[in-house]
Amino acid sequence: MTTEEREVFNRVLKKRIMEKSINEIAKEIYQNAKDKGFHDDHPKNIGEMLMLIVSEVSEALEADRKAQFTDINMNVVNGWVGNEDFKLSFKDNVKDTFEDELADVMIRVMDLASYKDIDLEAHIKAKMRYNSLREQKHGKRY
Ligand SMILES: [Mg+2]
Repeated sequence: MTTEEREVFNRVLKKRIMEKSINEIAKEIYQNAKDKGFHDDHPKNIGEMLMLIVSEVSEALEADRKAQFTDINMNVVNGWVGNEDFKLSFKDNVKDTFEDELADVMIRVMDLASYKDIDLEAHIKAKMRYNSLREQKHGKRY
């Protein structure tokens, strides 16, 4: 793939990702988790799902403590062609970094929201609006 072709590929990929709503991404995450067997037990234990989110937050903390960050441009990562090359490069450059763990947090939150059929996007927008109208530090010390 030439540099020009890669740039076009990256632009198309970026546009496709940006065109998806938060809820669409959440549904895709849920479907992938389901396909991988993470939703075989039904009904799901919500407490377990919440603790798995916490476990990803803990992994982010450890990555930060170990200064495990990636300096790779993710548009380049997402543009890597061929699943085997992508997988190897991802493992070498991104996996278990702080950024990767934050992505895991979001993936688990969005999986739970989709499982519970929550309109996460509407909730985020409403909460952002509400927060913008609140007092400094929402009336708390920190
Ligand atoms: Mg993780």
